[in-house]
Amino acid sequence: MKRARQTAGATALHSSCEDLGVEISDLSARLRFKPADAQIWLETERMMMVHLSAFTSLRRELIDTLGTQGARRLLIRMGQASGATDAQIARRARSSDDPAAIFMAGPRLHAIEGMVRAEPLDFHVDAETGVHTGEWIWRNSIEVDAHLAAFGPSSEPVCWHMIGYASAYTSAFMGRPIIYREVECRAMGAPNCRIIGKPVHDWDEESDEDLHTGIDLDVLGTCDEWSEGASGNDEPDRLVGQSSDFAGMMHRIAMVAPTDATVLLMGEPGSGKKSAARLIHQRSARARKPFVVMNCAAWQGEALDIELFGTERGPNGSPRQGRLERAHGGTLFLEDIHCLDVRAQSKLLRALQEKTVERVGSSQPRTINVRLLASANARLLDARRAGQFREDLYYRIATMPIPIPPLARTARRPSAAHPAFHPQVRAPLPQDHPGAVQRRRRVPQHARLSGQYRRAGKHSRTRGDHDPGRTAAGDDAPVVTARRTGSRVLCPVEPWSPDPAPARGRQRSRNGSVRQSARQ
Ligand SMILES: [Zn+2]
Repeated sequence: MKRARQTAGATALHSSCEDLGVEISDLSARLRFKPADAQIWLETERMMMVHLSAFTSLRRELIDTLGTQGARRLLIRMGQASGATDAQIARRARSSDDPAAIFMAGPRLHAIEGMVRAEPLDFHVDAETGVHTGEWIWRNSIEVDAHLAAFGPSSEPVCWHMIGYASAYTSAFMGRPIIYREVECRAMGAPNCRIIGKPVHDWDEESDEDLHTGIDLDVLGTCDEWSEGASGNDEPDRLVGQSSDFAGMMHRIAMVAPTDATVLLMGEPGSGKKSAARLIHQRSARARKPFVVMNCAAWQGEALDIELFGTERGPNGSPRQGRLERAHGGTLFLEDIHCLDVRAQSKLLRALQEKTVERVGSSQPRTINVRLLASANARLLDARRAGQFREDLYYRIATMPIPIPPLARTARRPSAAHPAFHPQVRAPLPQDHPGAVQRRRRVPQHARLSGQYRRAGKHSRTRGDHDPGRTAAGDDAPVVTARRTGSRVLCPVEPWSPDPAPARGRQRSRNGSVRQSARQ
């Protein structure tokens, strides 16, 4: 493992980010002002400026009206909405192959939005195991300024909006629930705020109450599909194409959509399988019911069981629905179903046959009424031939296979207010081939964050222990590691290839650890 040591304070930290290719200018260039029309755009998101004094008044009113916990909950939810939206912007804005560089777009966007400057102390990206850990220093938090102006010093952390942002951004980016917790806050007298993040299941129980106050776990758990709709554009996706293959695909979709048949969408990454699935749902009798998406490559083991089937005892001790239950009455779209291991295949098959689910920790069957759509690529056929994918499940999901041609193009119907209709705004809409966009999106989705939290007891450090100068010391040297792999058992990162042999070659060549350090 390559690990870097920080040798200076804040300036060096900033340099280390630039060393990673993490700059801010590529993002700030996406901020467009159109004052004559009262519009500010950050990429394709309309923004607004709010005075600190107004934010302070709002915060005071919220706390006076709703109480501390109520105000905290509301601001966390606001932050979650911002974080999930910025995860989409980050994916579109950054084309790097380095997951860490793409991830860093979020903290940089947070700075552009005037909220906080985030500097990594210990930040691990692991594509193979899908776990994220991070420890960050927050400087210049505007929430601290607002809280101090309204109420003076606090006995507990006050950066609620920002902690919601960090949790939702990371969860949406990784496709799994990650929770950030503020362990020091400048409003409490610390030199700066400090946050720690890791997968929700890795937090110990004693911190549950503190962790989950206000965090909407259901939102984090469904960030993938939730953030898809965060743009507020409810127009159905359009699939655009001209080839005969495309016409054949659309004909099959038109035929199968009104039925309740299970549909298997086969195609390479970026071909628009999710858009096709959404179109089938929108043209079915279930259109007004939930359309729930789950990427099977993002989950493994018990976490996958909990996500798919639910649990009687969630992280905060309360029952939690799995995605099968949440799709009740509607449609469940399982992306990359070939990534399910055999054990999960068996449980899914039983659920489909019996139309019931049993949550983890319960033997009580719960009735479900779900239409299943699934997507896969050629690896499904390889897995089936190799005995790694159950024949009975294959035939159940492949009753109506629809090949998605490689050049099928997905595009959202632009609205009249869309900046694309205002050339003077020159908002940099993604112009790349959608396949390339999809591939970029897959990098963070598969660049699951992992690693061991560097040492125990860090978050028990007293606030006086930390100051900017101390980051220069060995123990607190910032460490940014990123590991990306194409070799994990079930779902490689590299683009789909019709020829499995060269794909495996690339897989091997990408295998291993690509770790990057904050600073040498
Ligand atoms: Zn704070």
